[in-house]
Amino acid sequence: MVTILSGIQPTGLPHLGNFFGAIRQHLAVQDEAAERFYFIADLHALTSITKPAELRENVREVAATYLALGLDPERSVFFRQSDVPEVTELMWLLTTVVGMGLLERAHSFKDKVSKGIKPNVGLFTYPVLMAADILAYDSNVVPVGKDQVQHLEMTQDMAQSFNALYGEVFVRPEARIPSSERMAKVPGVDGQKMSKSYKNGIWVFEEGKALQKAINQIVTDSRAPEEPKDPDGVLLVEFLELFLSADELADWRARLRRGGEDAPGYGHLKTRLREAIEAAFGPARARRKELLGDPAELERILARGAERARRRAAAVRDRAYAACGLR
Ligand code: ATP
Ligand code: MG
Repeated sequence: MVTILSGIQPTGLPHLGNFFGAIRQHLAVQDEAAERFYFIADLHALTSITKPAELRENVREVAATYLALGLDPERSVFFRQSDVPEVTELMWLLTTVVGMGLLERAHSFKDKVSKGIKPNVGLFTYPVLMAADILAYDSNVVPVGKDQVQHLEMTQDMAQSFNALYGEVFVRPEARIPSSERMAKVPGVDGQKMSKSYKNGIWVFEEGKALQKAINQIVTDSRAPEEPKDPDGVLLVEFLELFLSADELADWRARLRRGGEDAPGYGHLKTRLREAIEAAFGPARARRKELLGDPAELERILARGAERARRRAAAVRDRAYAACGLR
């Protein structure tokens, strides 16, 4: 049977990029005949979150978000990364077969450093921990956003290097990214990749004035509404593409292109986006609050998932230890 695996870092509140690039795909495959492992990457988050209370809070938020949006913890193994210590054991094995040069070429690391994030060794070795996360469950398919494609290639590389030395230990995983280019890489309010760590995101459950404020930060220019515009150059249109039907979208685009009296101003686009976000995530809002009000239940769900996850990871760890001579 196919094994699907993916994770999300509790580095902040889940945003539209996390939803369209990752969570939406994770929920969409719930009916497929496959085993599914979804985890909250709290060990990864430690490379940037240093306040214990904030980390705990973020973990609960991510858990409540997935469950509120429809993750069924019976059909998917849903757990916290740090509850599966086998993953860090496998990480060590992988560090011994990965070249420094490979890690030095990681775009995500370079992007974060260029944005002024002070790197620690943990951030540098992120792709190795991620490879361990994936390989620990014999994962075949990893649904992620486009930003993770390179990390998946690195995972394949590490699996291959280990296997070349010690035999067929690890299964080779493949990335699965959303077929919609827009969903595979959702822009932030500044037009760069939306990221929790870049503070350019829109939280999926934002509402009311705060949502309006977040939307107002989406970069526009000072062109008048009547002026004809190429819709492809309007960042707000990229956001609307995530939500609107093809027909409605074509209509907005045509009116922007024509310009004149009937053309929408940026304010109109913002209002439509606010409505669309509220309509998409509004129904799950109450459920999220309910879940957050019962931390013991969240804990119970994650603990149960961890038990199931550990069984698989322990078997893979044993196989890897035996192959390389540790046992
Ligand atoms: P951080 O800034 O801490 O790295 P992030 O916003 O990049 O956080 P992650 O937790 O690293 O989010 O990624 C979780 C999942 O969301 C991954 O599958 C990733 O590919 C996907 N993802 C993150 N940002 C985007 C985006 N802008 N568009 C599409 N997918 C995204
Ligand atoms: Mg990221």
